[in-house]
Amino acid sequence: MVKIFSVRHIPYIKLFLLLACTQPKENYLSIHNRLLTLDTHADTPLNFAQEGFDFANAHDPWKTGTQVDLPRMQAGGLDGIFFAVFLSQGPLDSGSIDLAHQKTLDYFSSIYQVVEQNKELVAVATAPDDLGKLNNQGKKAIYIGLENGYPIGYDLTRAWQYYNLGARYITLCHGTNNQICDSSTDPSGPLHNGLSDFGKELVAEMNRIGMMIDVSHISDSAFNDVLNVSKAPVMASHSSVRSLCDHPRNLTDDMIIRLAEKGGVIQINALSSYVKTPGPNLERDSAMAEIRSKYGSYDQMTPKKRDEFRKEYLVLKERFKDDLAAVSDFADHIDYVVDLVGIDYVGIGMDLDGGGGLKDCYDVSEMPEITRELLKRGYSEEDISKIWSENFMRVFREVDQYANQVP
Ligand SMILES: [Zn+2]
Repeated sequence: MVKIFSVRHIPYIKLFLLLACTQPKENYLSIHNRLLTLDTHADTPLNFAQEGFDFANAHDPWKTGTQVDLPRMQAGGLDGIFFAVFLSQGPLDSGSIDLAHQKTLDYFSSIYQVVEQNKELVAVATAPDDLGKLNNQGKKAIYIGLENGYPIGYDLTRAWQYYNLGARYITLCHGTNNQICDSSTDPSGPLHNGLSDFGKELVAEMNRIGMMIDVSHISDSAFNDVLNVSKAPVMASHSSVRSLCDHPRNLTDDMIIRLAEKGGVIQINALSSYVKTPGPNLERDSAMAEIRSKYGSYDQMTPKKRDEFRKEYLVLKERFKDDLAAVSDFADHIDYVVDLVGIDYVGIGMDLDGGGGLKDCYDVSEMPEITRELLKRGYSEEDISKIWSENFMRVFREVDQYANQVP
């Protein structure tokens, strides 16, 4: 037997152990910056037309109400983002649908314009590998998703048209039912009891062309129909866990299990009331009710009134900032999905510029806080890398692969 250590080695072993224990842990920021990070849902294009907003400049989130711009993306070490082309639901006559389609094309143009103005530092991305490739060139990846299939109308070729303009997912509906499916939040209840016949055709067409299907916003029965019809994995671009926060926008355990069984992914939303049910706060609730009655419905406001409302609303939001959910609440949703189905089926879609924002990670510049929290909870760098982009990119690749093998 070879004797490796003898008594005379003991002081050296002690010294080694001492050094190992006192070695400072690597800083969470350097780990965060090494990872490829992707957020799969931001409504930032809504701000492009806002007076005084320039994507190239940093803005104060509490003064402007904006949460994403290029300097803050750099500060937050976010490498890629899906900008939503968002259309609110309107009537289903052909005139209204065509107007929505025109508006959709205008949104695409505005994204390309902003990218062109910042082309040294950002580029439109359309493939899973673009995130890493652009990162190597020192550029942020701007992916595009369509939030609400409303402007497709009943014309399947529009899905292909949006794909050719760079869109890589379509959220089938928004807050109310449309021609494709039922929404999880329509106050009038279900219209199709799931996917409509047209919705089923659209899902098949999306599979065929390689467009990801986003199940965020859709009703539970529409979700189940999508899972039955889709031949490729699907994803929820910005939804959280209903067992932790009982809201119809969130997914039940059964839905998360079905999603995972099909190889999909749930990207956790940071919209506070989907993360943590807000506790009672009389002062906040009456102040919010007061400005709501003062200004009436947002849709009816003139642009000037909207501006005034926005300013007053932001002051209130900042005043009651402490009521927002925290990064630790957000990470509870990640933990929950990991415990339920494993590490491979969860990611991040904070819904910034669309209502998302946590008290200690309110805009894109604070995203390293999420990595810090996950490290604190014992996730390895490999796990965190899956959460920040790899899980979602697996779905993206499989959707691509399916499209490439069908005629
Ligand atoms: Zn949304």
